[in-house]
Order: sequence, then structure tokens, then C-alpha cells
Amino acid sequence: MSLKPRYHFAALEGSNYERLPYRNHIVLQENAQHVGRFIALANVGNINKRKYLYAFTIVPMNSMDPAELVKQPLDVTENPFRKSGKEGSKSMQSRVEVEDEAAPQFFFDLSKQQGKKRYSGGRDGPHTQKKQPRKAPQATGPCWFCLASPEVEKHLVVSIGTDCYVALAKGGLVSDHIMILPIGHYQSVVDLSSDVMEEVNQYKTALMKYFRSKGKRFVVFERNYRSQHLQLQVVPVPQNCCATEDLKETFIIQAQEQQIELLEIPEHSDIKQIVQPGTPYFYVELDNGEKLFHRIKKNFPLQFGREVLASEAILNIPTRADWRECKSTKEEEATWAKAFRESFEPFDFSPKD
Ligand SMILES: [Zn+2]
Repeated sequence: MSLKPRYHFAALEGSNYERLPYRNHIVLQENAQHVGRFIALANVGNINKRKYLYAFTIVPMNSMDPAELVKQPLDVTENPFRKSGKEGSKSMQSRVEVEDEAAPQFFFDLSKQQGKKRYSGGRDGPHTQKKQPRKAPQATGPCWFCLASPEVEKHLVVSIGTDCYVALAKGGLVSDHIMILPIGHYQSVVDLSSDVMEEVNQYKTALMKYFRSKGKRFVVFERNYRSQHLQLQVVPVPQNCCATEDLKETFIIQAQEQQIELLEIPEHSDIKQIVQPGTPYFYVELDNGEKLFHRIKKNFPLQFGREVLASEAILNIPTRADWRECKSTKEEEATWAKAFRESFEPFDFSPKD
């Protein structure tokens, strides 16, 4: 507690555990200080395949920007060593305990400001090395989804916010299958800055209200695998066709059939806590906020989310599972987009011109 290390590594228990970062100062009584991180690693080559290697780069404290150094990550907790001390109020204690309990076994370094893990493999390379949150990054090559790029199909766009936009999905499962996309070139939700993420959530809420007014619930899914630009697919499902529980069940069952392990993510945790940028994954979010997550290793069926939704158990339109089979003319698409834009308008918070 008095040393206040930024990192505390331990190996004596022979297991891998990464605690949420904790504060080294008392809020409202002391100036903000750097947070502490506790990381325990398993024995080298252990048979349980527990993590035993932790690679990261660390910027020495004295060469860091002081403001950057004391930045508190979103998931910071109180200091666990201070629990029994006089400052450790009841509420503080219970909060720490609750968070410890809720912490799944896979916690990663959330703060990109301090020592970062080096991404050691995979196709995406070490793009966690950048220090500052990027502002509307641009694609290096042509991109179908960067709003500024000439490739984007403008007639499908239905709403444009500050950092995100909403567009009709090309070859959508249903005529109001839409997508939330960042305006800048971000690969996945994990890469989004908090501002962009906030607007994504704003759109989700607006769309949920909109679909409810139409007697529908929605399923949101993202496949961060073989895609360059984040597309959050939002597919409405009639409320009288499936309860949220049934939707969840269907996803789990159909995943099992394909040997895909879908994990339920603890409530109030988000994808950022589970994967670091560059990791391929698939996740589904239901309208009650529940999320199912799969870390993609290899050969993930690209149409999986659509297949499940198109299946007999849900929308029962199996022939539309593959978007390439869902051809329509540009005129039809423009008509659907216009219709959507008009009926979504009362729910749309984006600035109108
Ligand atoms: Zn892009």
C-alpha cells in the first residue's frame, strides 16, 4: 500500500488472475495518483493451459505526461489494501467485494495509457501501440463503410450523428434490418473511443424505442472477423414471434450445433473488458442487455448471426441467411431507406439540417 506500484506481479499461487485496477488515492481527499494493477500468472507450461506469459511495454513514470499517468480507467476500484483501514467505509468495502466476485477470469489491461500489452500474433498486428484515442481514423484502402469514402452507398444511409451513422443493411434479412456504424474507420467496438461508444449506445436506445413502437424487439450482433469496419447489425424481430429468452436459447443451441461456444457475459461488463483490440470475436446483444460472446479462433461461419435469425425458430426465412442471395435494386433500397428515415424521425436525436 505504501509502495503504490503501478504493476504488481505474482506467481506463487500458480494461477492466472488479473484484478481490476485500483486507486492509490482517496477520492476527494487526495490528489489523483496512478492506479495499481495486480497480475498473477500460472506456472510455465502448466497442463491447464492457464496464462503464464504476459508481454507488454511500459513507459517509465518519469517520461509520462503527468495527466496521462493519473488518468483513472473506467473500471477502477477502491484500494483493496485499504479495506480494513479507517477510510474503508462499508459501502466501499462491499463495492470492492462485489466487483471482485463479478470479475470473470479474463480481465485485460483496459487502460491504453499505461503499460500496454503487446499484441503478439494474429492478422491485425500491434495496433494497440497508439497512445491517444484516434480521431475518426481513416482507412488506408477503399472502405465500403467509411462515411467519407466514395465507396459508401449513400442511398442506404438513414441517420447521421456526430460520430456514428445508421444505414440500411445491403441485402438485409428484413426490410428494416439496419446497421449502426462509426463514421470514422474503426474495426470493432473494442477500438471505439468513449465518445463514439456513447453515440452507439444512444442510437441503440433510440432504435429500441422505435422498434418497440412497431411491436418489435431487436437483436444486435457484431462479427469482428474478416471485416475492416465495424458494423453493428440491428435486426428487428416481431415481439409475438419470439420472447427474448427464446432468442437467446436459439442462439445458444444453434451455436452448439456448430461447436461454437457462446458465453454469457456478466451483466454490466462490456466487450472491452473481455477482449483487447485486434482479437476476433462475435457477440450478440438482446434487447434486455444480455450478451452472448464467442472468441473466434478460426473458421467462424461468416453468416452465423444471420443464419440463426433467419432460421425456422425465429424469422423463418432460411433462404435469406446469406446476404448475397438477397438482391434488390437500388430503387428498392432507396425506397426502404426513405421509409425507414421517415418513420424513425421522431426517435432520431441526430441534428437535422
Ligand atoms: Zn472504414
